Amino acid sequence: MQSTRQAAPPPLAVVAMGGHAFLQSGEDHTIQIHQRNAADISAVLMTLVERGYNLVITHGNGPQVGQLMRQTDMTREEVPPMPLDVLVADTEGWLGYILQQALLNQLRRRNIQRYVVTMVTQVLVDKRDPAFSKPSKPVGRFLSQEEGEAARDELGWDIVEDAGRGWRRVVPSPAPKRVVQWRMIRESALAGHIVIAGGGGGIPIIKNAHDDYEGVEAVIDKDLTSSILAGSIGAELMIILTDVPQVYVNYKKPDQRSLNAVTMDMAEDLVAEGHFAAGSMGPKVIAIQNFLKAGGRRGLITNASTLEAALEGRGGTHFVGRL
Ligand code: ADP
Ligand code: MG
Repeated sequence: MQSTRQAAPPPLAVVAMGGHAFLQSGEDHTIQIHQRNAADISAVLMTLVERGYNLVITHGNGPQVGQLMRQTDMTREEVPPMPLDVLVADTEGWLGYILQQALLNQLRRRNIQRYVVTMVTQVLVDKRDPAFSKPSKPVGRFLSQEEGEAARDELGWDIVEDAGRGWRRVVPSPAPKRVVQWRMIRESALAGHIVIAGGGGGIPIIKNAHDDYEGVEAVIDKDLTSSILAGSIGAELMIILTDVPQVYVNYKKPDQRSLNAVTMDMAEDLVAEGHFAAGSMGPKVIAIQNFLKAGGRRGLITNASTLEAALEGRGGTHFVGRL
C-alpha cells in the first residue's frame, strides 16, 4: 500500500530584530554602516534558512526615523513636512530595501532560490487607547529647552525633559490590535518567500469617524507588533534578537542570574517582580508571553552571535508554555 503520509510543512518563525541590526550604538548613520550591519545580520539569519524555516522578519527604526524627523525639521520651509506615520512608512521602505538586498546576496551565495519581499505594513490601533492622552515615547534627537518650547508652541509637539539630558518630543505609543496585511504576510511566508514586515512596529492607523483607515502620529512598540503578527500568522517560533545573549533576573545587580528556560507561569511572576525594564526588556518578555497565549509554541530571546547555538539549545533564553 502506498504511504499517504506527507512531509510536515516547514515551520514558520518570526524574527524581531532591534535597532542594533542596522546600527550599533555610537556608529555613524551612513548607508555603508547600515549595509555592513545588514550583511552581518543576514548571514546570521541564514542559519534559520538552512534549518528549513519559513521566515518573517520585523525590525526597529528608532535612529532612522529620528534622522528623518530631523531632516524634515530642517527643510520644513521649503519642503512640506510629512507626518510621523509617513516617516515610519519611509523607513520601512528603505530599511526593507537594504535588508532585502543583503538577504538576497546571502541566498545567492548559497545558491538558495528564495525571494525576499518587504511589506509596507499598517497596524491598527484603537483611537480610544489611553496612550493617546499621555504621549510617552521619546522620538528624535535631544533638544535644548528653547528648541523644545519653540517646537511645542509652533508645531504643537508634546515635549518632556529626559533625565537631565535635554528635552525631547514624545508621541503616543498605543497597543497594536491587528496587522492589516497579516494574510498577505502569511501567504507569502508559507510560499517560502522571506517577508520583511512591521518595520518600526508598523505604521499606526486608526478607524476614523467614517470607519476609514487613517494614519496617526504615534509609534508602536516593534516587539508587541511582532507578537501580534506572529500570533495571527500561526508562527510556531518567535525569536527576539537584541543586544544581550540572554535575559537575566536581577539585571546588573551583584546577584544577576541568567535565565535558560522560562515557562509562562515563571514569566508572569518575574514580570510582576519587576525584573524587566519598561521600554527595553519588559515589552520583549510580554510580547513572547502574548505570543505563547495566542498559540505560539516557543519563544527565544538572544543576540545575533548566540542565535545558532541557541537554536541547538546551548544559549539564549527559551520560553515555553510549560516544561
Ligand atoms: P532593542 O533595540 O533590541 O529593542 P532594547 O535596548 O530595547 O533593544 O532592549 C534590550 C536591552 O534591555 C538590553 O540591552 C538590556 O540593557 C536591557 N535589559 C533590561 N532589563 C533586562 C534584563 N532583565 N535582562 C536582560 N536585559 C535587560
Ligand atoms: Mg527596544
